Parts: sequence; C-alpha cells; structure tokens
Amino acid sequence: MRQGLHLYIDVVGTCNLRCPSCPVGNSPGVKNARGAMSLEMLTEILDKAAGESELKSVALFNWTEPFVHPHLHELVALVVGRGLTCNLSTNLNIDKPERYRAVLAAGPRLLRVSVSGFTQGVYRLTHAGGDVERVKQSLSGLAEMRRSLRSPTRLTVAYHRYRSSLAEEQEFSVFCANLGIAFQPHHAFMLPLEKVLTTCGEVGYSPLTDEDRAVLANLSLPLDAALREAATQPGWPCALLEDQVVLNCRGEVLQCCATFDESRFTLGRFLDRPLVDIQAARRQADVCQACVRHGVSNYYQYRIPSLDNLTWSLAGPPGSASPGGRV
Ligand code: SF4
Ligand code: SF4
Repeated sequence: MRQGLHLYIDVVGTCNLRCPSCPVGNSPGVKNARGAMSLEMLTEILDKAAGESELKSVALFNWTEPFVHPHLHELVALVVGRGLTCNLSTNLNIDKPERYRAVLAAGPRLLRVSVSGFTQGVYRLTHAGGDVERVKQSLSGLAEMRRSLRSPTRLTVAYHRYRSSLAEEQEFSVFCANLGIAFQPHHAFMLPLEKVLTTCGEVGYSPLTDEDRAVLANLSLPLDAALREAATQPGWPCALLEDQVVLNCRGEVLQCCATFDESRFTLGRFLDRPLVDIQAARRQADVCQACVRHGVSNYYQYRIPSLDNLTWSLAGPPGSASPGGRV
C-alpha cells in the first residue's frame, strides 16, 4: 500500500510578522532560505509526490506567510486543478484585497487566519508587528468576497490562547459568529523544537533568551507541566514524521514542521531523493530521539487528552482574568 502523505510547503522564505513564540520572531540568528517558489518547481514536486505516495493534502505554508507570494493564486490553482486538497494559513496582515480575492477564487479548501487578541494592545504582544484592526477589516472583506464568489472555501479563525489573550477570546468569537466565520481556539505552543529541547536540558540546540522565558510564562498550556504529562505516553511512531513532509521555498526537506534551523535540519532537495530514502533518513535523526524522550512529539501533536486539565487548573477558563498576565 502506498504511503498517505500531507505536504507542507513554504512557498516563500519570509513572513511579515515576528511573533515571539515562532522562530521567525525568536530566532533571528538563523538564516534560512529566502525567495519564492516557482510554479514550475511546485509542478515538479507535486508530480513526484503523487508518483510516490497517496497525496492527501497540500498546505502552502509552514514557517512563513503565503500571501507574501505575489502569485499565490496560481500555486493554489495548480494544486486544486489536480483535484488535491489545498490548505492555507495566514496572519492576514497583508493589505492586498485583490490578492485575497484571487486566492479565494482559486478554491483552496481551507483558509485559516491566526489571531491572538481582539484589541491591538493584547494582539501585538503575541503577533508582533501585526495590526488587529487591519485583520478584522480584512476578515469582513473575506467574508463578503466568499459570499459574492459563492466560494466553497472554509474560512476559519484560529484563536491562539495565551494567558494574555484568554480574556478577549469571547469577543473575537462573537465577531466571527456575526460574519459567519468558524472560530477555533487552541493553545499556543512554544516553537521551534530546538528551543523546547533546550528547556528540557538538552545541549547544543537553540539558546533561550529573556524574551523566550516571557513567552513560556505567557502560555495558557504551561510547557513544563505539559511535557511531564506527554513524556508518560509513547511518542513513536511520530505522525509529524510518518504522515507529513515539509519543504522550504527551495524545495528542500525539513526534518519536520517543528524544526527550524535549515543549516542543521534539512535532508537535501525533495526532487533529488526517492521519498522512501527521505523517510528512512528522517527516522534515523538524533533529534527525534531527544524529542520523543522528552514527550515533545506528543506535545506538538496534542494527543494527550489530559493536557486540557493542566490548562484550566493553572490558567483559568477562557474569559477569566489571567492570574499572572503577560510577564
Ligand atoms: S507565527 Fe505565523 S505570522 Fe507569526 S511570525 Fe511565525 S509564520 Fe509569521
Ligand atoms: S519525533 Fe520530534 S523531531 Fe522527530 S519528526 Fe516527530 S516532532 Fe519532529
């Protein structure tokens, strides 16, 4: 039986924001690939992936903002035109309504918008460089475009829960309901994996800064308690390895969606190696052993139901005042 596969592809090498829980914001010393993926390269990647696997979905994002790509609609149309499921995630801070319309018209299955606060004072803490009023305005525009285009695209808001954003969750939920947009809250994670492994005492990964410690203190799901719980469960096989392949804008394979530093955690160009070889090399990576040992793979997959208990007992339910606020 052929391997089922979800592809995650960064079609550009940059993001317009600098969120502190994301390596784009918290790892400025890492110099990853820049540029934009061409239609030709995406075509070759899809051809190869379809020949080697049962391709289940293609997401045109991982660490970057896909709407930075000026021809995103053409990339989406390429994926959709092959009968494949195409998913997008965006911070919606690009002020290009015509780009949003063209992408919607191309018919992605999902357009997910990430936010973390209803007012600018809260939002900017965790979506650094962003403007939540622009996001809300663009959301209204997207809802209207979807209606006028009779678009089948599922439009959702992913509300990132931090201690600082819990109190504004309800307000954003009502805003979405009024626009007919699905609202999906979830706990923010600390990324990348390299920093989480450092918190576990592993040496040689990414150092923690004072800003990183402030992010850790602001998580609605406390990392240390979550990892203690996650480490009690088996973490292998890891779905982030077995079910997904992640590529950067040059078409190079990353170890997984949680690793960031391409100088350490890439395995060459996807087009140059058979998928079966790529997967064998990924399974042998040292970083996976450390990751599973500390429960990090379970944490990122959120596959321990008891993690929610940790959240509410330590941070309080949504809408309640944060015990510590942002530190
Ligand atoms: S979390 Fe998303 S929006 Fe924020 S810096 Fe990372 S890629 Fe950009
Ligand atoms: S075990 Fe950890 S490092 Fe390895 S693929 Fe899974 S999440 Fe990534």
